Amino acid sequence: MWLTIVVVANLQQRLPENVPGDFFVDSTCIDCDTCSQLAPGIFRDHGDQCSVHHQPETAAETERAMMALVSCPTGSIGTSQHHDAHIGIDAFPLLLQDNVYFCGFTAESSFGAWSYLITRPASEGGNVLIDSPRFASQLIRRIEAMGGVSRMLLTHKDDVADHELFRERFNCRRLMHADDGATRLGVEQVIHDEEPVQVDDDLLVIPTPGHTRGHVVFLYRRKFLFTGDHLAWSPAKQMLTAFRSVAWYSWAEQTRSMEKLLNYEFEWVLPGHGDIQHASARIMRDHLERCISWMKMIN
Ligand code: SF4
Repeated sequence: MWLTIVVVANLQQRLPENVPGDFFVDSTCIDCDTCSQLAPGIFRDHGDQCSVHHQPETAAETERAMMALVSCPTGSIGTSQHHDAHIGIDAFPLLLQDNVYFCGFTAESSFGAWSYLITRPASEGGNVLIDSPRFASQLIRRIEAMGGVSRMLLTHKDDVADHELFRERFNCRRLMHADDGATRLGVEQVIHDEEPVQVDDDLLVIPTPGHTRGHVVFLYRRKFLFTGDHLAWSPAKQMLTAFRSVAWYSWAEQTRSMEKLLNYEFEWVLPGHGDIQHASARIMRDHLERCISWMKMIN
């Protein structure tokens, strides 16, 4: 089964908050913030939706805007002039560092959550997909050319999106925690309890209940922490943060789970929602301690 990206932004529904010009956001925007995080120089969150605050003027700005356009989960970004969609499509998967990529192509069913790809040789266990991007043919072809997917790691039940299609296409082995319905979803490797699980030499699963009961994060090479909806960077507060209003299971448990992360070193926080952050392990630890203090204050 192939799904293709559909850019359906409607000029008639152009939001009045957009500045005049070529690129625009229409009224179908669900405020996932993918565009404002991916291209903050072009898009901004003006309240409960996003809009264009600066029209692209350079090739680099146009490329970023097109990357946002193809990544938008609802096809809410459009242009009045023609652009080659491959300007955006071919940028993904987008290299972050080493062998870790951002997939782009977010899915509406996971509210535009971000997903990531780790490329590894077969001798090291093969490629790993963290959470599910949209099953878009253009992205699938590129992932296929990069070696496909051997493992699919799911942080929690909100961000599973097109996991079944990835399983069918790549015959990948999915992993998820039992308390988020892994068995019901037919996941091949089910994690139980709260003990960390080493799934490969370089890959650790750390259960972090809070946002949901079965939420987990993944630590790769003691460097990259894939945090789902547990932990993210807040540019406004200039600190690591968690989302109190969507702690569906328990804020107290999420705070306790956050304290567990003090046992680990990491340099990258790669969330499903919220901003990415990269700093030295020492600075990240300082940020994490500050985040935990803040979480305890508002408990
Ligand atoms: S990526 Fe799309 S849905 Fe998400 S905030 Fe931007 S325009 Fe809205």
